[in-house]
Amino acid sequence: MTIDKNSAKWMQLPRDVLIGHGVLEEVGYVCRDLKLKGNALIITGSTTKDIAGKRVSNLLESAGSSAETVLTCKATMEEVEKIMEKALEVEANFLLGVGSGRSIDLAKLASTRLELPFISVPTAASHDGIASSRASIVDNGRSTSAQAQAPIAVIADTEIISAAPFRFLAAGCGDIISNYTAVLDWELASRIRNEYFGEYAAAISRMAARVIIDYADSIKPEHEISARLVVKALVSNGIAMSIAGSSRPASGSEHMFSHALDRIAPKPALHGEQCGVGTIMMMYLHGGNWQEIRDALKKIGAPVTAEELGIEDKYIIEALLHAHSIRPERYTILGSGLTPSAAEKVARITKVIS
Ligand SMILES: [Zn+2]
Repeated sequence: MTIDKNSAKWMQLPRDVLIGHGVLEEVGYVCRDLKLKGNALIITGSTTKDIAGKRVSNLLESAGSSAETVLTCKATMEEVEKIMEKALEVEANFLLGVGSGRSIDLAKLASTRLELPFISVPTAASHDGIASSRASIVDNGRSTSAQAQAPIAVIADTEIISAAPFRFLAAGCGDIISNYTAVLDWELASRIRNEYFGEYAAAISRMAARVIIDYADSIKPEHEISARLVVKALVSNGIAMSIAGSSRPASGSEHMFSHALDRIAPKPALHGEQCGVGTIMMMYLHGGNWQEIRDALKKIGAPVTAEELGIEDKYIIEALLHAHSIRPERYTILGSGLTPSAAEKVARITKVIS
């Protein structure tokens, strides 16, 4: 039998996913389960080192691995290279990204290039990168999303995640709710551009967004059940993207708006916060129920206006005008771009600017 190259699919998924109270303590056991032995390299930030990095290091050492730590401060390609050098120097056999996002993205990219496995240990649940094969990185001064490997394991300790600033968890909800417009854009691209559309991946993606909207009332600060709910949805996003073989199920026009803000706004907000606001506006453009999106984000406590994002109105308009050019190959509701009057109208009607 010959394999039809067009229908064959390669889905890379995490193998061990641990979500719950105190699961950080299982890191040694996870390494044993995955046959990860030898030298570990931990990538963490200065704050997250105290929250979890040091503990991970101690646990690995008592499990028989040697553990070195690299402290990171920004998600740039130079940092990826620095980590790779360190990994070669200490002859690392596997990497761990311990942090809220940056450390995980850096560990993901460095481990992909080194062809080593990596474990994702999120200390906050602010975006779906904790379980996906995409990494956000600044390359030559531009923020971009790069293809990388998926983590071999995700260890999400809800005791730690629920103690992180609530803003992070609310941003994670924005990143999940954005699946709604991402899937609408994907369906549109399949109709207009005859692009492949994965029904199964789209269903998982929609379901994750639905759960967050349905439970919006019960997502609260310092509440482990909320943290568990959001982490599960973020992991589902990673799985939906792996099944689709692209970020399509979780990234559409609303993400392009957020990436445009990252480039344009002097002080951008969190990725998930910007994507949430983007979803309100893109849902309006799709002719869908944007009020439902706005209400859910409001209930959760995520930003719904430019002011709440801490970004001036003019940058919102500018980002709307530039969003379609961020990834021109990715067809969305933005088509070949909005006119200035249309951009202002969508932002005003949806109350993002006043
Ligand atoms: Zn995202």
